[in-house]
Amino acid sequence: VVRIDALQKWYGAFHVLKDISLTVPRGARIVICGPSGSGKSSLIRCVNGLEAYQQGTIDLEGVRLGENAAQTTLARRKTGMVFQSFNLFPHLTVLANCTLALRRVSGMARGEADELASQYLEKVRIPEQAHKYPGQLSGGQQQRVAIARALCMNPRLMLFDEPTSALDPEMIKEVLDVITGLAKDGMTMLCVTHEMGFAREVADEVVFMDHGSIVEKAPPDQFFSQPCHPRAREFLNTLL
Ligand code: ATP
Ligand code: MG
Repeated sequence: VVRIDALQKWYGAFHVLKDISLTVPRGARIVICGPSGSGKSSLIRCVNGLEAYQQGTIDLEGVRLGENAAQTTLARRKTGMVFQSFNLFPHLTVLANCTLALRRVSGMARGEADELASQYLEKVRIPEQAHKYPGQLSGGQQQRVAIARALCMNPRLMLFDEPTSALDPEMIKEVLDVITGLAKDGMTMLCVTHEMGFAREVADEVVFMDHGSIVEKAPPDQFFSQPCHPRAREFLNTLL
């Protein structure tokens, strides 16, 4: 689904992504972890087209991101993004948050959009919240709305950037359960998270980043039991 090749990115003089190559085949579940400032969000944001990059390539199902505006728009439509901070529109109901892009971008009629969004709200297990506003929901519920909203656009790839790190412990599980369910359904995903139980259960591979580079990439069993890189070992020790 995604092929990242020799990606380089700078913020001004700061070299944030250094020669990143990563392929995410259809159905793959990849967890990205690493210390704060290592470039995880920058990488995810590049794949979503939210950030420009300077060298290398990102191809989403054969469409090159960043080559020209038309291709970039096409490529971006293939991804769904879920942020740490939910990013829902506070003045719109749950249902309207979910249907906004369907109606504005896909030009779908209201009835059809509402129907589709309701199915996804069902899938994230909050169909009864459809007519509330985000401010009336718990953090865990808001994040599940954000997931439903992303799913409405039928993405080929779901990108998650620390989807549970703004949540209280009792809400983390309900969100991780939903993401795990998507993984079981075969959704391709790239997920930045430090939830190592989730990584163990769901990931095919764990990618460890440090100072803008991928320094280790291994199946979870191997990554957790015998990380090769000293920085990865150090990082795992800080989590335990
Ligand atoms: P965290 O775990 O804290 O979320 P991260 O691995 O996601 O960290 P990034 O957010 O990708 O890290 O940031 C990587 C580095 O790039 C950091 O040093 C950060 O200060 C810097 N950075 C991020 N965004 C910008 C920006 N828009 N302009 C300049 N520097 C930035
Ligand atoms: Mg980040």
